[in-house]
Amino acid sequence: MLSTSPSTVLVTGAAGYIGTTLLRRLLADGARVIALDSLERGHAEQMPREVPLIVGDVRDPDAVRQALRLFDRPPDACIHLAGLIQVGESTLFPQLYRDVNAVGTQVVADLCLEAGVPALVMASSAAVLRPLKGVGERLDEDAPVGPESPYGSSKLSGEYTLRAAADLGRMATVALRLFNVAGAAYGLAERHDPETHLIPLALRAAAGELPPLHVFGDDFPTPDGTCLRDYVHVRDVVEAFVRSARLAMQQAVSGEAEFQVLHVGTGHGRSVKEVIDACELVLGKPVPRQVHGRRPGDVAALVADPTRLATVLDIHPDADLHRMVRDAAETLGLLDA
Ligand code: UDP
Repeated sequence: MLSTSPSTVLVTGAAGYIGTTLLRRLLADGARVIALDSLERGHAEQMPREVPLIVGDVRDPDAVRQALRLFDRPPDACIHLAGLIQVGESTLFPQLYRDVNAVGTQVVADLCLEAGVPALVMASSAAVLRPLKGVGERLDEDAPVGPESPYGSSKLSGEYTLRAAADLGRMATVALRLFNVAGAAYGLAERHDPETHLIPLALRAAAGELPPLHVFGDDFPTPDGTCLRDYVHVRDVVEAFVRSARLAMQQAVSGEAEFQVLHVGTGHGRSVKEVIDACELVLGKPVPRQVHGRRPGDVAALVADPTRLATVLDIHPDADLHRMVRDAAETLGLLDA
């Protein structure tokens, strides 16, 4: 593996939960980073001051060009995180998801090719996969795709864009299929607006900051009836982006630009109920909750096979759910000092 990390990086969606964490990781490596974010859902206040930010949309070629022009030469890599991420919302606004995630990725890939960027890594999702029939199985990168939501379709479309871009032979591309990103690093709290993610919702409900948690379905074919997901620490996710960019740079330099998919998860499925139990244990308080009907687009189980992640990037994600919950609770200011 190439020992040098990318020293110049364009990060789209840089003001989001993963993006702000990634910026800290890249800066710690001494990288020069340019950020692009529409700030529609991102957090300007969590952006490091030393990172120049272009406020713009990835669907807007002028905004992407403007960000790329801030580098003296083409950056070593583009890490493309910008996108909409809510399965339920995508069922209500499928056109919006297609525009932002599919069209946005096309614009970013085209302009990276035009500028001569050698490496492009995107945040894809486990939602591109055909859900498992039996729980207890893990999904590897050869598992069939078959999205169940417009969100999943829009991410799959982005993957095909990256595959086609790599076929041109000038830019290596990687799609990281993220499972459920959780926890916190560098003291940055996970906050989405509106919040839709299970761990911050459960923690903040227990703290009395939010109304009782809605458990979306307890009649799934899983051991306790609630959905199984693979929660992976944001620190490991960010590491996967940095090492993927490094790998793609190496491929491009050696004239072997190709497209790769990697699953970013721990291999352990946790039910909604197990997550709630972990939140209660960490906070020492009950999580008030009500069981509701299923959320549209949710599938019973999504659990990664992390073998290729370990082989290709030498990343072995921390599977300690309590640590993820504790890190999240701490940065949300919910743990007593
Ligand atoms: N979930 C829930 N109540 C909530 C939010 C989420 O029961 O208010 C469940 C959801 O059905 C899924 C799991 O928690 O099974 C993780 O959902 P999240 O939105 O955090 O991530 P996703 O799996 O949609 O990416």
